[in-house]
Amino acid sequence: MGFEDNIRKIDPYIPGEQPKKKVIKLNTNECPYPPSPEVIRALREADWERLRLYPEPACDTLVDALADHYGLRREQVFAGVGSDDVLSMCFLTFFAGDRPILFPEITYSFYDVWAKVYGIPFETIELNEDLTLDPSGFKKPNGGVVIANPNAPTGVAESREVIEGIIEYNKDSVVIVDEAYIDFGGESVLPLIDRYPNLIVTRTMSKSRALAGMRIGYCFGDERLIKYLNDVKYSVNSYTMNMPALIAGAAAIRDTEYFRQTIEKIKKTREWTKERLREMGFTFNDSRTNFIFAKVPKGCNAKEIFEGLRSMGIYVRYFDKPKINDRMRISVGTDDEMNFLIGALKKLTRT
Ligand SMILES: *Cc1c(COP(=O)(O)O)cnc(C)c1O
Repeated sequence: MGFEDNIRKIDPYIPGEQPKKKVIKLNTNECPYPPSPEVIRALREADWERLRLYPEPACDTLVDALADHYGLRREQVFAGVGSDDVLSMCFLTFFAGDRPILFPEITYSFYDVWAKVYGIPFETIELNEDLTLDPSGFKKPNGGVVIANPNAPTGVAESREVIEGIIEYNKDSVVIVDEAYIDFGGESVLPLIDRYPNLIVTRTMSKSRALAGMRIGYCFGDERLIKYLNDVKYSVNSYTMNMPALIAGAAAIRDTEYFRQTIEKIKKTREWTKERLREMGFTFNDSRTNFIFAKVPKGCNAKEIFEGLRSMGIYVRYFDKPKINDRMRISVGTDDEMNFLIGALKKLTRT
C-alpha cells in the first residue's frame, strides 16, 4: 500500500488514564500532595518576558542544582523531559551494539517499546516465583542491562549488593539502574557512581517531588557516558527542557525539608494501607515505593475488583498480563483517599 510500507509502526506504551472528571486517582503513582511552595514561589517570581529566548541547552540551572544537592560534578549529570526522555536517550545512546540488551520480564513496560522503536535487540529475564530479581539471569553476554530498582509494577527493592553484583559482572556493557522510586525506600547505587564507569542511575521528579506535570527527569553517570548522552541529545533536539521546568526543578531539589516531610507522610500512609489490605486477605511483596502491587484475596477476581473500583470513582492500575493478572497496582494517596479505597474494597471483596 505505497507509503504505508515506509512508515515505522509500533505498539506504543500505554500511559495510565488521566480522567477529566474528579476521581480518586491511584493509577499513575503521582504524588498526592502539591509540589514545594518554593517551586510555586520561584515560578511566580520568574521573569516571564525571558520566554522569548531559547532555554539553556545544557539545562545549567537544573544541572548545577542537582550536582550541588547530590555532591557530584556537573559533568556527571544529565537532565531531560521526565525520566522517560532521559531513559529514551540512554537507550538510543548506549545500546547501539548487536547483542541483545537484558531487562526483567516484568518491569516498566516502556523498556521493550524503546527497544522496538530504536531497533535494539532485547531479551527479557524471568523473575523468581515471588517476583524478586534473579541476578544470575543478568550474568551472560549482552549489549546492555536495564533494571528498575525498586522495580515497577512489583514494588520490590533489591539490595545494593545484588545490583552491584550485576554492574560488576557487566563491565563491558552500560548498566542503567532506573531509580524512579528510590526516594520511597530501598538502597541507591548512586554512591557507586565513581567506581563503575559503566553505570547510569536515572531519577525523576514526577513521583517523590510532585512535579509529574512539569516533566523533569535526570541521570548520573561517568563523565564519558554523560558526554555521549549529550552528543546524541544535541543531535535530536538541543532545547529539550523548557524554562519553567528548569526553574521549578532547581527550586524543588533545594527544598529538602518539604521533600522529607512529604516522603514521611507517604510512607506512613503506605504502611497503614498495607496493614488494612493484609487484614482483608490481600498479599504483596513488601513495597518500598509509593504504590502497592497487591494480589487479590482467594476467590476474588482482580479484573472485576478493578472495574468495581472504577465504577465507584476509584482508579487503580490493572495489567492483563500473564503472572500478574491476579493483582492491582494501587498508588499511595492521601489518608482520606486510602480510607475510601479500603471501604470500597471491603464491599467488593465482601469481607
Ligand atoms: C514513572 C516512571 C518513569 C518515568 O517517569 P517520568 O519522569 O515521569 O517520565 C520511569 N521509570 C519508572 C520505573 C517509572 O515508574
